[in-house]
Amino acid sequence: MTIGLLKEPSHETRASLLPEHIVILKKMNVHLLVEHGAGENAYATDAKYVEAGAEIASRKEVMQKSDVLLSINPFPNEEFAGLNKKTIIGFYQALQNVASINQLATEGCTVFSMDMLPRTTRAQSMDVLSSQANIAGYKAVLLAANLYPKYFPMFMTAAGSIPPAKMLILGAGVAGLQAIATAKRLGAIVEVFDTRPAVKEEVMSLGAKFVEVEGAADATKAGGYAVEQTEDFLIRQKAKIAESVAKADIVITTAQIPGKKAPILITEEMINNMKSGSVIIDLAASTGGNTDLTKNNETIYYKGISIVGNSHLAGTMPSDASKLYGKNILNFLQLIVNKEGQLNLNFEDDLVKGTCVAHDGTITNERLKN
Ligand code: NAD
Repeated sequence: MTIGLLKEPSHETRASLLPEHIVILKKMNVHLLVEHGAGENAYATDAKYVEAGAEIASRKEVMQKSDVLLSINPFPNEEFAGLNKKTIIGFYQALQNVASINQLATEGCTVFSMDMLPRTTRAQSMDVLSSQANIAGYKAVLLAANLYPKYFPMFMTAAGSIPPAKMLILGAGVAGLQAIATAKRLGAIVEVFDTRPAVKEEVMSLGAKFVEVEGAADATKAGGYAVEQTEDFLIRQKAKIAESVAKADIVITTAQIPGKKAPILITEEMINNMKSGSVIIDLAASTGGNTDLTKNNETIYYKGISIVGNSHLAGTMPSDASKLYGKNILNFLQLIVNKEGQLNLNFEDDLVKGTCVAHDGTITNERLKN
């Protein structure tokens, strides 16, 4: 079988696979065809892919000759017909792009959207949401440190004392936990909110303070994902968050609910109470943002406060982001490729079933159908 690695659109720096992953593909009896320049933004040259055993080709050839196509970003609509009922694997944010998934289904494509992978223990090694969110959490703190006009750590120097920066993190999922760890390493004091009481221990073990708000909706049956909260809970949570926001120098927000708009946790009124020079990094920007003022993929300056809505932080570290994304993809391929190197889709497997959003001309995924 041949797998095709496609060049991503110009805004993307990552690639679905790096040359270092090819050794595993060979063991799986899979040949890799790489579009010219597919890895160049991730510092992987065509020559490196060839050295590792892949073949370089034009986009047209890759699309025609491959059985499975890898592309992190969705395909442009004008290429749908050329996909010719192929299997495609990427990060298609299916819940936000139901119309294009529907169209791909009509074209007869089998579509695996890696962001739909169930969040179970067996799935961890394939979890692209986690590998990329981990980078986003780390980079969010570094970006904040860059924009913040003061130190993060406390210093006692001959020229005077510097107090430590106070950071507030909303949402202690994968990105939030990595943000806590990174901020603590840089010496900030960290306070954290999350609606899942289960994360309290993890937050505390990283040396941060967990602020509890009673009465959150039970998310234990949501497969590891957050659920929407009641109006009453959100009002009480906002009152507590307002107190923390007024004290914070840096706020990092990560609260998302799959398939829904992100909850507004920080209002304009709260931002008006922040100190000039403070920084907000909103990692939920692509799903609407956690503040009233966030603009997706923009940094705005409001009354001396920087509000960053960068949704592509994983892409600012393209080498490691591609290394981890590629390993996730390889692990997933092991589920759908047999020993002879041929596609073998077992829809009895909950990971195959959960990640597949279109097959046999129709939308197959229950979450998407709903
Ligand atoms: P996410 O990006 O969907 O959300 C980030 C965090 O925001 C979550 O912790 C969520 O509870 C929180 N949040 C949502 N609404 C909120 C609100 N109103 N106020 C405050 N916080 C709010 O989350 P994620 O990083 O993708 O992880 C989600 C869950 O999945 C976590 O429990 C994580 O441990 C679990 N997980 C499991 C696996 C696996 O087993 N394969 C892999 C990764 C994550």
